[in-house]
Amino acid sequence: MKQELVLYNSLNRKKETFKPIEEGYIGMYVCGPTVYSDVHLGNVRTFVSFDIIYRYLKYLGYTVRYVRNITDVGHLLDDGTDRISKGARAEKLEPMEVVQKYTLGFHDMMRIFNSEPPSIEPRASGHILEQIEMVQQILDNGLAYEKNGSVYFDVEKFAKEQDVYGKLSGRVIEDLFSETRELKNQGEKKHPADFAIWMKAAPDHLMRWNSPWSEGFPGWHLECSVMSTKYLGTTFDIHGGGNDLKFPHHENEVAQNFGACKCQPANFWLHTNMLLMNGRKMSKSDGNTISPEELFTGESPHVSQGYSPMVVRFFMLQTHYRSTMDLSDEALKASEKGYKRLMEARKTLQGFQAVQSASAGTVDEEISKLLDQALEHMSDDFNTPMALARMFEVVPKINGIRDGHIKAEELSAETLDRTKKVFDDFIFDIFGLQEEMASGKDGTTDGLMQLVIELRNHARSQKDWGTADKIRDTLKELEIQLKDAKGGDTTWVKA
Ligand code: AMP
Ligand code: ZN
Repeated sequence: MKQELVLYNSLNRKKETFKPIEEGYIGMYVCGPTVYSDVHLGNVRTFVSFDIIYRYLKYLGYTVRYVRNITDVGHLLDDGTDRISKGARAEKLEPMEVVQKYTLGFHDMMRIFNSEPPSIEPRASGHILEQIEMVQQILDNGLAYEKNGSVYFDVEKFAKEQDVYGKLSGRVIEDLFSETRELKNQGEKKHPADFAIWMKAAPDHLMRWNSPWSEGFPGWHLECSVMSTKYLGTTFDIHGGGNDLKFPHHENEVAQNFGACKCQPANFWLHTNMLLMNGRKMSKSDGNTISPEELFTGESPHVSQGYSPMVVRFFMLQTHYRSTMDLSDEALKASEKGYKRLMEARKTLQGFQAVQSASAGTVDEEISKLLDQALEHMSDDFNTPMALARMFEVVPKINGIRDGHIKAEELSAETLDRTKKVFDDFIFDIFGLQEEMASGKDGTTDGLMQLVIELRNHARSQKDWGTADKIRDTLKELEIQLKDAKGGDTTWVKA
């Protein structure tokens, strides 16, 4: 089944019918994290969005090769220092220790949010040879030049030769040239808009490799050009990332691919929008930020209680990936209610038995239509909030049948089966939600967990911190997280 899929393509700034290069297969590349610090909620928003996209493409029957890289070299700060090296110096670790630490942390967080791992997760530092090769190709094609051991992409020449530069980010080339702020090594560039594809390492630079030009390291944009095309081909189906990456990262990626093989790397470019908090950009510098852990435990002035990862995931589904997402305590509270209502309706629905004498009534027709519409919304540029809204219109019908306001006979066996299946497909396979309570038969697990929580509370009231910590640590090993609400209640979630 290949339902028509319409995607908003950033490249052309309009919705287009999606057609894969090879029938039945999709190659998708998404820019992964720079692993020099803990993953923040903004990153999570972007990766959860692409997780839902990945899941829905698979649901449509495509075989998807999903490549999401790990940036572990070359991503510089505005002052020219390498992010990983800075982390290494600050923490007195080897750069690769920093990379390992935050890659593991990133993977943990993705698991907590029930995001599927990509098919390939290549690292920039594992593809230095290929990056050197691409620099050489661009040099051979006359679109880069070497200066004092560094190699720069010649943006001005590229812009003159081909009408490509600026198209993805929607910049007018003249404006771009006039506004380009210069970074390090500006003196070596022919034009301020030029960017480094190979950089000669300063004597104190930690991460360095031999190359034909100097001992140095690749420019940040280069890794994505190299790793996407290595695993997906010179032109592939979808390239994604947050919209803060459109310029310069993605624009320069396109330039490099043209520079190396004269081709547009991806047919479709998808960009997620940013995460805000209380209407303002989430930012560490002015305190308007909350970490995932603070969100789960409620230990933050920005929230009145802790919220489980699945409630946060549900919250994310309620905003379209191209809109800004505004996190607030109120909105999360509403999401918690919504998430529970949906999961309870699902449970009720699964308990329904088909009625033999059923003859399809209006409810039957209405539910079928809502399910069709929910799927159509997903095929319309992955509109999760609209799909969710249609599912919530089915919920009162389910509850009506449960409470006897709607006759069960009105639902044919066929529609009942389909509703059960579509609900499960949506909730678990497409939205990637999970049951929060891994409750055993007859609520045994719930009961036992209440007992464990009471024992821990007792230990704490006796100031027996050893026992209290042991309980928390053992539960952590079992991937069960305790959440202490401000009112004193403790709840638990299975990560
Ligand atoms: P980085 O680790 O900074 O390279 O970012 C990894 C991914 O997270 C990129 O696709 C970014 O565009 C995305 N990202 C960064 N900040 C935010 C934010 N506040 N909201 C949504 N996505 C973000
Ligand atoms: Zn990238």
